[in-house]
Amino acid sequence: MAAEVLLSHGVGVDVFDAMPSLGRKFLMAGKSGLNLTHNEPKADFLTRFGAAQAQLAPAIEGFDADSIRAWSDSQGIETFVGSSGRVFPTNFKAAPLLRAWLHQLRTAGARIHVRHKWTGWSEDGALKFDTPEGEVRHMTDATVLALGGASWPKLGSDGTWMAVLNRVGAQTRPFKPANSGFDVDWSPHFRERFPGEPVKSVVLSFAERRVEGEFVVSETGVEGSAIYTLSAPLRDAILKDDVATLLLDLAPDRSIERLVADISRPRGKRSMSNHLRRVTGLTGVKAGLLREICAAEIFADPQKLAESIKALPLQLSATRPLAEAISSAGGLAFDGVDENYMLRTREGVFCAGEMLDWEAPTGGYLLTACFATGRAAGEGAARWLAQRQER
Ligand SMILES: Cc1cc2nc3c(=O)[nH]c(=O)nc-3n(C[C@H](O)[C@H](O)[C@H](O)COP(=O)(O)OP(=O)(O)OC[C@H]3O[C@@H](n4cnc5c(N)ncnc54)[C@H](O)[C@@H]3O)c2cc1C
Repeated sequence: MAAEVLLSHGVGVDVFDAMPSLGRKFLMAGKSGLNLTHNEPKADFLTRFGAAQAQLAPAIEGFDADSIRAWSDSQGIETFVGSSGRVFPTNFKAAPLLRAWLHQLRTAGARIHVRHKWTGWSEDGALKFDTPEGEVRHMTDATVLALGGASWPKLGSDGTWMAVLNRVGAQTRPFKPANSGFDVDWSPHFRERFPGEPVKSVVLSFAERRVEGEFVVSETGVEGSAIYTLSAPLRDAILKDDVATLLLDLAPDRSIERLVADISRPRGKRSMSNHLRRVTGLTGVKAGLLREICAAEIFADPQKLAESIKALPLQLSATRPLAEAISSAGGLAFDGVDENYMLRTREGVFCAGEMLDWEAPTGGYLLTACFATGRAAGEGAARWLAQRQER
C-alpha cells in the first residue's frame, strides 16, 4: 500500500522482502476466505482496536472499509458483505487479488527484490540486506518498514526487526499472541473424540464481555472466531493468574427456567444423554462438553444442570504459542512514531502494519489497519520527501 501511494506521487520505489515471494501471510489469510474488512458503523469499527483506536483513527478514517472495497474493485476483484458484516472477495481467494496488485505495482514502476532480508543500516545510512549472494546495500531517500508481527514466522514475519529498531532507540513492546487459541486440560476420551468439532451457537462470557458465535475444539484446547474475540483479555488474565475461566452458554435461546422445566420432564427408561438430547436439543460436542466439565451428581439436579448449561466453566490453562496465533500484539510503540508514521529516532524511516503496537479481533480489522497504516505511512513518506526537496 505504501509503495502504491509513493508511486502515485511519482516517487521511485524498490520493494524488498526476505521471502522468495511477496505476501505469504496475505495468501494464508486467503485460505479462510480473505476477510478484507468489516461493514459496520465507523464508531463501532474503531472500538475494535481497543487502546490503539485513537492512534489508528486518522489512518482508518482516511482508508476505511468502503475505500478498501473500492480499491479491491479497482484491482478487478469484487467484494461482498457476508451476513456477519465481514467483507470478502466474491471468489474468497487472495491469490488473484495479490497477483493483480503486484502486476499493477510493477506496471507503475516498482522494482521488486525477493530473498532480501533487511538487517539494519550501514554506517553511511544504507539499508543492509542478507541475500543468497551475500550482503547487499541500498541507499534510499526514505524507507517504509512493513515487516509484520511475529506470528506464523515461517511466512516471513519473524519479528527480528525489533532488535534492529531497538538499536536505533525505537520504543517497542514485547510481542504477545493475539487471536490465539488456548490450552484446556481435556480428558483422554474428550481429546480423542472431539478435535476439529465446531461448537456452534454458543455465547462465551469473560470479564463482563459476551460474545455470540462459534469456536472449535482442538486436541490441545479451543480456538476459532469467538475465542479469538476474547483472546486479549483471556491472554492477559492467564499472564496474571496462570488460568482463566471462560463461561459457555450452550443454549443461548433458552432461559434457565425453561431448561429446568425441560430437564424435569419425565425421563422414563431413556438414558440421561438421550433425555437431554430430546428435551434440550444438546447433542454431540455440546453434550460432550457438559459431560467433560460437570460432576456426575449435577446431572441428577435439574436446577444445577440448567445453570451449568447456561454458564459452563471452561478452564483455560495456557495461551497457545505466538507462532500459532493469527496475529501479534506488541511491536513498535505508537509513541515511537510521529503523525506521519515516521520513527522519532530516525528521520526518513516510516513504519506500518502489524509491526505497530495494536491488536484487534478477526473480522477484517487486521488487514484494514495494515492497509490503512500502509497508505498513511506512504503519504507521510511522500510528504516528508517533498518537504525535504523544498528545503
Ligand atoms: C492464518 C491467518 C489467517 C488470517 N486471516 C486474516 C483475515 O482473513 N483477515 C484479516 O484482516 N487478517 C487476517 N490475518 C492477519 C493478516 O494476514 C496480517 O495482520 C497481515 O498480513 C499483516 O500485514 P503486514 O504487511 O503488516 O505484515 P505481513 O503480512 O506479515 O508482511 C510482512 C512482510 O515483511 C517481510 N519481512 C519481515 N521481516 C523482514 C526483514 N527483516 N527483511 C525483509 N523482509 C521482512 C515478511 O517476509 C513479510 O512478507 C490472518 C493471519 C493468519 C496467520
